[in-house]
Amino acid sequence: MSFRARLNLFFLLLVVVPLVAVGVVLLRTIDGAERGKVEAALVSEGRAASALLAEQAEEAGAVAAEIAEDRTLAAALRERDAAAIRERAGELLAPATDARRIRIVLPARGRRPAAAVEVGSPTALLPASRTLVAPGGGGALARIQIATIGPRALAVRLRRLTGRDVQIRDLPSGRLLAGDARDTGRLPAPGRVGTTGRGDWTAVVLRQPGFGTARQEVVLLASGTQVRASRSDRFALLGTLALFLVLAALGALVVSRSLQRQVGALLEGARRLGRGEFDEEIPTSGTDELSQLAGAFNAMSQQLRRRIEELGDERERLRSAIRRIGETFAANLDREGLLEIVASAAVDAVRADGGRAVVATADAREEALAGWSDGLGPLLDAAEQRIVQGHDGFVSDGDLHGLAVPMGSEAGIRGFVAVARRGEPFTAADAEVVAYLSGQAAVSLENVGRHEEAEREALTDPLTGLANRRRFDELLRTAVDRAQRDGQPLSLLVIDLDHFKSINDRFGHQTGDAVLREVAWVLRDGVRGLDAPARLGGEEFGVLLPATDAEGALMLAERLRESVQRLRVVTEDGLQISVTTSIGAGTVGGLGATGASLVAVADGALYEAKRSGRNRTVTADESADAE
Ligand code: GH3
Ligand code: MG
Ligand code: MG
Repeated sequence: MSFRARLNLFFLLLVVVPLVAVGVVLLRTIDGAERGKVEAALVSEGRAASALLAEQAEEAGAVAAEIAEDRTLAAALRERDAAAIRERAGELLAPATDARRIRIVLPARGRRPAAAVEVGSPTALLPASRTLVAPGGGGALARIQIATIGPRALAVRLRRLTGRDVQIRDLPSGRLLAGDARDTGRLPAPGRVGTTGRGDWTAVVLRQPGFGTARQEVVLLASGTQVRASRSDRFALLGTLALFLVLAALGALVVSRSLQRQVGALLEGARRLGRGEFDEEIPTSGTDELSQLAGAFNAMSQQLRRRIEELGDERERLRSAIRRIGETFAANLDREGLLEIVASAAVDAVRADGGRAVVATADAREEALAGWSDGLGPLLDAAEQRIVQGHDGFVSDGDLHGLAVPMGSEAGIRGFVAVARRGEPFTAADAEVVAYLSGQAAVSLENVGRHEEAEREALTDPLTGLANRRRFDELLRTAVDRAQRDGQPLSLLVIDLDHFKSINDRFGHQTGDAVLREVAWVLRDGVRGLDAPARLGGEEFGVLLPATDAEGALMLAERLRESVQRLRVVTEDGLQISVTTSIGAGTVGGLGATGASLVAVADGALYEAKRSGRNRTVTADESADAE
């Protein structure tokens, strides 16, 4: 059943049915009141009618007294002369007196039976009686009954008196003597007002003794139309009820419309929600239940929208996490990249405003920042400090909250991952996530360390710690490229120890190695920051001098040569060994310069230095030629 149909049914049950019932009851009530009024009127009219009847009887009584005085009649009675009695009685009827009917009953006397003589209208009624006694004693002569009115005249008078329908009936036959022929059915008991058996009548019945044993009945009748409420009363009642009904219908219509509108808005809102549209709110006016429902609906919609946005954020974070994993693959074995990734992953994972990942190696501290702002530094320092002191890494400063977790491994990685945000303090679950990331980062950093170590080993001479030949070749390529690009000269010193074979021979290979290490330290100490000393093989070293011309190369070569010459290496036996070097200094420049040509030039110069007596520097400058 639709909402509208239910409202209509509701209206019907709550308004129309009760209103109709009230109308019926009210109509009945006013009808009943009217009937009561009529009944009361009938009671008093019955009394008036009784008085009229009594008046008639009294009148008849007066006439009877008059007739009782009649001598002629008295004589006839004494004689019991029926014919004389009848004659005289006939003479006494109207217009001689008011008598309309005279009945004389002669009692039985001796052997003569009782006899009755009657004259006048046989229907005249309401008789008065009188007993005639013989003058001078001797008992009753006769009993005389006289009526002065007929049924029709009585009916007319009664009708005039009461204004009702009147019936005068003979009893026990029930024959209508005069009045209005009405089919009333059973009548109420005599002397009572009541409703008749058939038809819509209210009646009162008066019984009267008649002539001899006869009796008469006078009936006053009020018809149904007299009993029913007046038309105007009914119109007023029905009109009022109709007005109520119209008002109620209008009210119900207004309420129903507004209810339907509210329910319709709710329904539309629910449909929009179903289609995933969250922007439009259901209008809420007032504080009724439907408005509250609409409010709850809006709240639900907002909640849903928030959830969906959160899901979207979550998906975005997942995407960036996946991106980061990809970056991790790409940035593998790069310490700086790793730190950046772990810092931003930690910030994203716990929705922090900013954070950093810090790792301290033996000789350096590296850190990467994510979502950084200046205010965070001291807070994260404090969080890290708490870890150092052996506490948990949670700190708060007013609205600002920080969390640090240690990052470490058995292989000696030492560091922190720390995050900070405003508003919500960090939880143990946040710490767990960050700790997981930090653990993974530590493993990766360890791998980075191992990789760097291997790389270093692959490019380092194990005896002296200087760059090896492979590394030297790389450096040479880079330096040549740069020299060509910048148009600057590039020099190379090739340094060979003099008669090194004899040191080995005289003091042993170990001592030879020690000499090589010491010379390497001299070279390291003697060169400028940019210059790169390398062990080219055996007892031969090379020093690459970027942006250095032949003159500068010679100066540096001489300085190195003298430093080595001053060097004293002490053997196990306490002997002091010194060593000299021959140095070939080659310089190239311009576009034509290559690594091979530079080495060849320097080698040539070295050969010349050996050949011309050792412990000296020979320079070969080819930079000018190229230009
Ligand atoms: P010259 O002045 O002509 O350069 O004479 P030299 O003896 O230095 O030259 P030579 O090439 O004849 O001998 C080089 C020696 O260096 C041969 C080898 O025993 C020695 N040597 C090469 N590598 C090492 C090393 O790693 N350790 C030691 N102890 N000796 C080495
Ligand atoms: Mg040599
Ligand atoms: Mg040598």
